[in-house]
Amino acid sequence: MSVLCEGNKPGTLVQQIVTNGSPCNYHESTTLGLPFMLLYKMTRSPKPLGELGLIEQIRRDFSASSKAVTLGIGDDCAILRPPAGSEVLVTTDFTLEGRHFRRDLHPPESVGHRCLARGLSDLAAMGATPLAAFLSLALPGTMLAESAGRDWIARFFSGLRALGDMHRVPLAGGDTSESPGGKGGFILADIVLVGAAPRGEALRRSGGAAGDALYVTGQLGGAAAELSAILRRQRRILNVATTEGHPNLFPEPRLDVGESLLRRKLATACIDVSDGLSTDLAHLCRASGVCAEIEQASLPIHPLARKLGATAALQAALHGGEDYELLFTAPPSVLMPSSLAGVPITRIGSLKNRRSGRPLMTMLAPDGSRVELNPAGWEHFSGISPPIRSGIAKSRKKRSH
Ligand code: ADP
Ligand code: MG
Repeated sequence: MSVLCEGNKPGTLVQQIVTNGSPCNYHESTTLGLPFMLLYKMTRSPKPLGELGLIEQIRRDFSASSKAVTLGIGDDCAILRPPAGSEVLVTTDFTLEGRHFRRDLHPPESVGHRCLARGLSDLAAMGATPLAAFLSLALPGTMLAESAGRDWIARFFSGLRALGDMHRVPLAGGDTSESPGGKGGFILADIVLVGAAPRGEALRRSGGAAGDALYVTGQLGGAAAELSAILRRQRRILNVATTEGHPNLFPEPRLDVGESLLRRKLATACIDVSDGLSTDLAHLCRASGVCAEIEQASLPIHPLARKLGATAALQAALHGGEDYELLFTAPPSVLMPSSLAGVPITRIGSLKNRRSGRPLMTMLAPDGSRVELNPAGWEHFSGISPPIRSGIAKSRKKRSH
């Protein structure tokens, strides 16, 4: 298992490779990757900030021009101009401290990156091109008064901006507020993504038909495996040298794949795997009115998950959330490329007619036996605490801001 953790010299990057829980080789990175340079270009305010000061700083740092944004941060509303012949797609996602991240464990760049990645992944699933992002942010009041808090905010925004720049998504507005609870309050972020797709052509969950083949991009289970390593270590990760190879900290939304599926008319239905394959496949099946069978041997399991052992790797691939890959369907007549936009595409099963007595989802095991597959990914209000929450009470007491 490879995770990044805190460096022992201020200002340097130290990558610790942990194999099966035992620390070994320290690797000091001297060449800084592009994402890292972007992360640290951002202005850091040396003085206490107020709401207006923070908004002004955000406006300065995100003043990139965009054809789609006629008017960005600074007025009561933003004005967007979607391309002619397109329709507008909108998605919104919470990123909540204690629910989606831990301030004592996750690097702030990762929190900002994941906040934007979640919205971008929803646009990718519909084949849309992003036009603009909007961020509503609630922060404990003390964060703007203390330099550690301002540093956290600057690093959060630089992570968000690095991913936004990569996909040319401007931040065109938002809202800023003090979260309740004083010093002990939580960081709460809600991101809105606005995208565009040619009128009537956006990919949906509901377009799958019996006989269609089922495909997935990239690899599954990596995010769950990396998260479990982070939680096992219970130590803050200070800096990461590169965003690559960190499926949990820095997931890669599959925007190019989604746009390519739409443009080339390859997919009949599509969804992003944010809550786990079993849960998201169930959504696609219900929306399309079909059943599905996946082949266990075909599942592309992430190398980080493989290191957990066969059983845990399969569980992570089937039910681990936050992989942000695309799960999509295509008629068997479609000759699917082995990769799209440089991302591997794997056929993992097919859709079947809905019949009484047939389970919604089955899995064909390597020995030829069939088992029913139940959705066991992430669901809010299901009464099961997500792994991220364990230790939150402790972390609230321990953290410094
Ligand atoms: P209003 O009181 O009209 O809601 P605000 O003072 O909240 O205006 O915001 C001023 C401008 O700053 C608006 O354009 C708004 O979209 C933008 N803004 C506020 N907070 C954020 C944020 N967290 N991220 C990006 N833009 C923001
Ligand atoms: Mg406001």
